[in-house]
Amino acid sequence: MITLSLLESIKIIMQKFIPIALLSTATIALSACTSGSTTSSATPVISPPPVSGPVSAPTNSAQTPIERFGALSVTGNRITDSQNRPISLSGVSHFWSNTGYGQEALYNPQVVQYLADEWNATLFRAAMGADENGSYLDEPEANVKRAQTVIDAAIDIGAYVIIDFHSHHAHEYPEKAIEFFTQMAKQYGDKPNVIYEIYNEPLNTANWAKDVKPYSERLIAAIRAIDPDNLIIVGSPTWSQDVDIVAQDPIVGYDNIAYTMHFYAGTHGEALRAKTKKALDAGLAIFVTEWGTINANGDGAVAHQSVKQWTEFMDKHCLSNANWSVSNKAEGASIFKPGTTQKGPWKDSDLTESAKVVKQIVKNGTRVCE
Ligand code: MG
Repeated sequence: MITLSLLESIKIIMQKFIPIALLSTATIALSACTSGSTTSSATPVISPPPVSGPVSAPTNSAQTPIERFGALSVTGNRITDSQNRPISLSGVSHFWSNTGYGQEALYNPQVVQYLADEWNATLFRAAMGADENGSYLDEPEANVKRAQTVIDAAIDIGAYVIIDFHSHHAHEYPEKAIEFFTQMAKQYGDKPNVIYEIYNEPLNTANWAKDVKPYSERLIAAIRAIDPDNLIIVGSPTWSQDVDIVAQDPIVGYDNIAYTMHFYAGTHGEALRAKTKKALDAGLAIFVTEWGTINANGDGAVAHQSVKQWTEFMDKHCLSNANWSVSNKAEGASIFKPGTTQKGPWKDSDLTESAKVVKQIVKNGTRVCE
């Protein structure tokens, strides 16, 4: 069994995008002739002109993400909403839920509410530690309970939530994964909020055709026996980067299947974007369930220029995304500084350099794409 530090050091993942320029900066000039003139009391009273334009429609800000978009589907290579519009969601992934990893207490409703309120996050990800120490294999009830806390909190506020079997080895014990997702599908299969991510990151030693595809087909069959429609997201070898290989031999026979692509901006660049573009062109729907501003080991400085390139890529291709991670561990990927409260409330001074970048991306990251 690999230690956490080793595990993380082999973790090479993905990246993300940013919709720029979504923020309307247009401010409306105050044109009303409000009283307050201190000039001559002889000023004649002038009636305001009648309103001739249309009354502006209410914004969507009062709507929850579920009210806005409803149940998700896969249409071609896009994630679409209940009106069949291509959409992208944006949010943050929790850290491994494993007992002893130090981030268990952040599996709480307060942080979900905070990220929804302050970051406009519409997407959450319960990264349930499936193996390694203190995981589902050792302590199923504790880890499921943590995941349920985040899932329930996201459902309560009308957000989307990914149920992630956070593993690098899941195809070695498919029966445990089936057990877990059977429970999740029974509990949450009727909720439009829920997305199943059945295998976080197969290693580069796994084979798509021999290992990951057969595993995924078993898992999909098990989930679909209970839940006919919610989105299922499939991983690929090389820490969910081999989407181009998957595109040559995709899973067939099921609806609403998407594929994850993970990137870390400090490590990955044009080569992985080219693989991803190839997969999109071949018709795969891609969903960035995990990305980092830093190196693939979860640490290092924010790669600002690369983050910008990735954000533009995600924006261009309408890729939903969840940043790694909701954590106060002393490493680059964490959104909270070490020692920051895990129960809240949080303020901007609690945020890391990465979080400041990610917050802006997430704030502008949810939209109808076309
Ligand atoms: Mg369903």
